[in-house]
Amino acid sequence: MFEKLEKRLILKGTIETLTPLHIGSGKSELDIEEADLPVLKDVNDQPYIPGSTLKGRTRVEAERILRKEGYPVCNPPDVKSMCGSTASEPGKFCLACRIFGTAGKNYSVASKVKFRDAYPLSKVEQLIQRSGIAIDRQTGAVSSRALYSVEAVPAGVKFGFELVAENLTDEELRVLWAALRSVEHSAIGGGSSRGFGKMKINIDTVIERSAKYYLGQEEEKVYAGDALEKWFAEKGCL
Ligand SMILES: [Zn+2]
Repeated sequence: MFEKLEKRLILKGTIETLTPLHIGSGKSELDIEEADLPVLKDVNDQPYIPGSTLKGRTRVEAERILRKEGYPVCNPPDVKSMCGSTASEPGKFCLACRIFGTAGKNYSVASKVKFRDAYPLSKVEQLIQRSGIAIDRQTGAVSSRALYSVEAVPAGVKFGFELVAENLTDEELRVLWAALRSVEHSAIGGGSSRGFGKMKINIDTVIERSAKYYLGQEEEKVYAGDALEKWFAEKGCL
C-alpha cells in the first residue's frame, strides 16, 4: 500500500492522577527492602506511563464503544480473528483496526496513532505503599504469602501527554476522542477494583501539520484555549 502524509495531528496535554496509580514493572523477584509490586520506573528512577499501556487501554475502550454502537469490530489480540486476517481488503478493516493498526495473515498495518511514554512533569519525591492480602484465586483462601505491598504513584501527579495521529478521518478522530474520554472515566494500571488508576486527561494543545509544512511551504496550525474548543466542536468531539 502506498501511503501519503495528508495530515499529522499532535495532541498535547497532561495526565493527572486522581487516585493512586500502579503500573507494574513485571519484576518478579522479591526483595524484602522493596515493595513486592513495584511500579515501572525510568532510568532516573521516576515512575512513567508507557505509551503502549495508554494505547492498549484506548483501543479497548474504542472497541467497547464501537460494539455498543453496532459497528463491526474484530477480536484482537488473536491475529487469526483480526481484520489483517479476515478482511478481504484494507477498506473493509473495522474502525478500531483503521485507527490502531492490524495484523494477520493478509495484512499488517501500523497504527495511525502513536502514544508517547508519559513522564512526570516534576520530580515525584515519594511513592506510596499500600498493603494488600493475597487471595488464592482457585480456593479463595488467603495464600501463604498473605501480606504484600503495592507501590503506587500518589494522586495529584501530572504526567506529560502526547499523542501523534496521522491521516485520521473526522470519524476516526471522534472515536479516538470518545475512547480517551472513556479511558479517563474508567482506569489504567492495576488495582482498579480498589479505586486505583483514575486520572484526568487534559488536552490543551493540538498542532496540525501537512506535507506542505514539512516542505516549508505552509505554517503549522496550533489550536489552544477557545480555538481548541472550537476545533474539537467542529470535528464533532464534544
Ligand atoms: Zn479489526
